[in-house]
Amino acid sequence: MDLISILRKLVSFDVFGGESNIQLVHWIKDYMKEQGVEAHLLYDSSKEKALLHCRIGPAVDGGVVLSGHMDVVPVEGQDWDTDPFVLTEKNGKLYGRGSCDMKGFLACCMSLIPEMLQADLKKPIYFAFSYDEEIGCRTGDLIAQTLNEVYPEQIAYAIIGEPTLMLPTIGQKGICFYKTEVNGSQGHSSRILQEVSAVHESMRLINWLEQKMLQLSVSSIDERFEPPHTSIHVGKVQGGIATNIIADQCSFDWDVRTIPSDDLVQIMDTFKQYCAKRMEELSNRFPEFHIRTVEAHPPVPALDTRTDSGVLKLLRAIGINGEEQAVSYAAEAGQFARNGFDSIICGPGSIEQAHRANEFIEIEQLNHGQQMIRNLIYVFGDS
Ligand SMILES: [Zn+2]
Repeated sequence: MDLISILRKLVSFDVFGGESNIQLVHWIKDYMKEQGVEAHLLYDSSKEKALLHCRIGPAVDGGVVLSGHMDVVPVEGQDWDTDPFVLTEKNGKLYGRGSCDMKGFLACCMSLIPEMLQADLKKPIYFAFSYDEEIGCRTGDLIAQTLNEVYPEQIAYAIIGEPTLMLPTIGQKGICFYKTEVNGSQGHSSRILQEVSAVHESMRLINWLEQKMLQLSVSSIDERFEPPHTSIHVGKVQGGIATNIIADQCSFDWDVRTIPSDDLVQIMDTFKQYCAKRMEELSNRFPEFHIRTVEAHPPVPALDTRTDSGVLKLLRAIGINGEEQAVSYAAEAGQFARNGFDSIICGPGSIEQAHRANEFIEIEQLNHGQQMIRNLIYVFGDS
């Protein structure tokens, strides 16, 4: 199958973050087997999801992992002009959910298996395909750890093929999602001094978070990012039942996106200290007053690859010429780096086309992605 045929097939599997990817991952494994590569699956406890990894080439140190996620974001509520799961070509663009983010890169990898096998590689190329990336990079650490455990040789580099328009991306913000729940006391709205309004207390906390971000935006700057500081954003607030009833319940959902030099734990500690102080202050009026904050998923670390890193040199050697950049979205590269891989993000397509209706990838971008890997084969091989 050629590059576009593989992508067409991958897009036809509507595997959303959080859902089973078994049919898709089995198809990939079977396809690779037909091509002469034995891929390995690592199932989760439900056996409904699996990671895929393989090595092509010799078991020697210094190889490179090509990594991408198999899941996509939902299409519900989006106004698509074409069937999102039927890859449709129009004016040099291929439309379909995941065409850009990031089945296009997976197709680039898979399309070159025959050339990898023919090339008599002196250093190995690994594939590492994850799931549940779109719901918080849930398997990034797992797949990096699995590679370290399964392969006795030292793997040097990881290229995560998220859409960057083929620009070498050496920085990524870290991210964590939280839910804060506030328990107050209910009563007639005139009893404002006797009861504790969960809505008012939530507002106070939200205001604290915004002030914290403003503080960080002065004290801690990284110009590579837009915005150039850690951002804190509350995306959803729920609470209260009527104008004249003091609310006993309110909750809000928020995220923190950290630049590499900021410490998420430290930020959270100061927030928790403020919450504890507020609980203490209100304990006289209402002993049951409580604030609880939970992580909606484990934090995803930032990526901060140096400009003199080996992986950037490798990308230069395989034809990636654009200026290095940083992105404000989360990807699995920070997790690969945390597990010892010299990591970078570089892949076909634009993040502007990701996650929206009529997602597409330009065929030209896809060809660039394929060419980068073809150059890698050339550098690692003897041809
Ligand atoms: Zn992605």
